[in-house]
Order: sequence, then C-alpha cells, then structure tokens
Amino acid sequence: MDHFTYRNGILHAEDVALPEIAAAVGTPFYVYSSATLTRHYRVFEEALAGMDHLICYAMKANSNLAVLKLLGDLGAGMDVVSGGEIARAQAAGVPGSRIVFSGVGKTRAEIAQALSIGIRQFNVESEPELEAISEIATAMGTSAPIAIRVNPDVDAKTHAKIATGKSENKFGIPITRAPEVYARAATLPGIEVIGIDVHIGSQLTELAPYEAAFTKVADLTRTLRAAGHDIRRLDLGGGLGIPYTRTNEAPPLPFDYGEVVRRTVGDLGCQIEIEPGRLIAGNAGLLVSEVLYVKEGEGRRFLILDAAMNDLIRPAMYDAHHDVLPVVEAAPGIAPEPADIVGPVCESGDTFAKGRAMPPLAAGALVAFRSAGAYGAVMASEYNSRPLVPEVLVRNDHFDVVRARPSIEEMLSRDTIPSWMG
Ligand SMILES: *Cc1c(COP(=O)(O)O)cnc(C)c1O
Repeated sequence: MDHFTYRNGILHAEDVALPEIAAAVGTPFYVYSSATLTRHYRVFEEALAGMDHLICYAMKANSNLAVLKLLGDLGAGMDVVSGGEIARAQAAGVPGSRIVFSGVGKTRAEIAQALSIGIRQFNVESEPELEAISEIATAMGTSAPIAIRVNPDVDAKTHAKIATGKSENKFGIPITRAPEVYARAATLPGIEVIGIDVHIGSQLTELAPYEAAFTKVADLTRTLRAAGHDIRRLDLGGGLGIPYTRTNEAPPLPFDYGEVVRRTVGDLGCQIEIEPGRLIAGNAGLLVSEVLYVKEGEGRRFLILDAAMNDLIRPAMYDAHHDVLPVVEAAPGIAPEPADIVGPVCESGDTFAKGRAMPPLAAGALVAFRSAGAYGAVMASEYNSRPLVPEVLVRNDHFDVVRARPSIEEMLSRDTIPSWMG
C-alpha cells in the first residue's frame, strides 16, 4: 500500500498534486511519501511484535538524510555498508548503538571509524576481516562486538545480481565452516562474539528460502552454544520483495515473514535484528519525468523522456519492470497503445520499457515511475553530464526539497585542470 493516488484525475503524493512539485523543482525528480515510509516501518514493527527486536533499515536502498531521520526518529536502527553510510546515520541522529556494519570489504579506516562511534555490531564476512577487526580494536584498547555472516547455501530464487546466499556468491563464510571460525573468533583479543548474521538476497518473492536459511541459523545457534559461545543476537538480513506491478505479483507480507521468524528462531531467546531496505523505501517513492518528444517510428511509438538510465538504472541493470503512470489520467474510453519508453542517453540500454500500454501522451505530459524509492536516487550517476536528480519529501499537503538539483556549474566545479596545462 502506498499514498500515491489519483484525485480528480491528477496523480498525487499524499495531498500534493505532482504537477505542483514539477512546477516548483522542474523535472525529473524523485518524490517520497513520509506516510508510506512510516507505514512500512510500522508493518515490520507489528510483524515482530512480542519479540525482542531491532529493525535496522538497510540505508543503501535510499540514504537521503531526511528519509534516515524520519525512520531513525521512529526508532529504527541502520544497516550500513561504508564509512559514508556510518556518517549519514550519525548525521540523521542515529546513535552507534543502533548501527550495524555489514559489507564484504570494510577498510581499516572504516573499521576504526565504526569502533570509535561504539558500533552496535560488525557483521563479519571473512576470516581475514575478523583478524583485521581484532587487531584494530586491540590497538584502540577496545573490543568489537561481532556476528559472523554465514552463507547458508540457499537459493533465494531472485535475480542473479542480487542473490547472495548461495555458496558461489562472495558473501559470508560457508555455514559448514562456521564452528571453526567461531572457535577462532573466541581466541581473538579484540573480538566479542555476540551473534550470527545471514542475508540471502534481495527482492525475494517467496518465504521458503527464508524458512530454509533461518532453520539452518537456528541449528547453528544450538551448535555454537553447545561449544560455549554466547549467541544472543540473530541478524536475519533483509530482502523481502515488493510488488513492482499492481496486478500480477503478490510477494509475501511482512506479517507472514514475521511468522517464519517466530517459527524458526523465536524460541532461542535471542534478540532479533532484521535489515529491510527495499520494502521500506521502494513503494514509498516515484520518479517523475516529462515527455520531451513523441516519436512515431516504423510501427513503433517512442516516448522520449527527460529522465534516463543514469537517474534510474534498474531497468538497464536488472531488467527491472517499473509501472509508468500518466500523471494526468487518460479520459475514460481512451484505449492505451504500446509505446517504448526511453531516455535521452546515447545507448540502447537507456530504455525503461518496451511495448508498454500507455494512453496517448503529448510532449510536455508528465509520467511517474512507481516503486522507485529504493535503489533509485542512490544508484544515480552523472553519466552524460546530467546533474543528479533532486529529491522531494511529501508530508500531508506539504513538500520539501530534501536534495536540491545541482547546477551545471556545481557539477563542473568538482573537476580541476592541472596547472601544467596553463
Ligand atoms: C542490500 C542488503 C540489505 C537490504 O536488502 P533489501 O532487499 O533492500 O531489503 C540488507 N542487508 C544486507 C547485508 C544487504 O546487503
């Protein structure tokens, strides 16, 4: 459920008409609904009610400071994957005690940064990383709370680029080797073992892979406890999928996911962490763009937009589907016709949709990509020297620009010409 609806034929974000935002900030722009973000966070809270838990929002999905502050103020922790994301969490007012540090390639500087803010936990992905964390913590006169990310060798049944829980993926250590690695961790002076971490992938549309993975984690918890480790926290990762089309997709609901958590690990007396990203932010955002030209090709209609693959890369990168809605609803009785929806970038990959049923649209019309709140703005680039798209947050009948569009001058000012060029 989201808060993007037509009123009198005009698409609104909560109580704000999208053309109003377009007039104020220009196109393209991202717009997020604070009510939807809040609702999605609360849905997870309800799903885990009665269990000791912390929802650590995976901020790589959407790390705008306003989004982080909104979720942090609701009580969310943050799952971060870089020193930059640690700084963002802090800038949004989230204390180190609610920040979990994931990622396969933490640098020494990032490890020290995390220790200096009293990070809640490192999710450790390899033995060399474990040794490095111990060394750095010892040198800093402290110890690092850690969970080891285990790879349960479960097929998440999702797109290959975002599946992470099979043995051929680069993530975590094989679950079969976990007892050995925990034994090693227990001997390291700078390490405090507190739990187990698992994350099997993103955009999961079935619960069975979770059930399989969490069952393996429950077994491992018992094994490790029997070996004397104080396993008191389980981080179950993120990855719950969202519907990208309104009609034919029904990914599992957070409530049912919560039931799987309860059923598999609920009786272990562990604190539960989860790291949802996409489900919180994905359907809380739209990318709004203007039709620049309508080009009638040989039996094809092209809608050429002012948004491009650099602004929303998911279709080019993951063959992702995004519903595209006309901001002004077509009059009743007008039949949609197929259109290829493309951007201005000089690559055929800059195609958002092919043969998509769209109403007749003229140049100047606005369209909105649904489900663009996660892995949208954060993956944008300046390819083709297109300035990053601005971001807007709506609350009721009010909107704020939460990241302004940089000017061309600002974009150019980051480059310098060496003095030897005169
Ligand atoms: C990407 C990621 C997440 C979030 O995944 P979503 O599909 O956005 O929920 C959580 N944890 C880790 C370790 C990740 O890499």
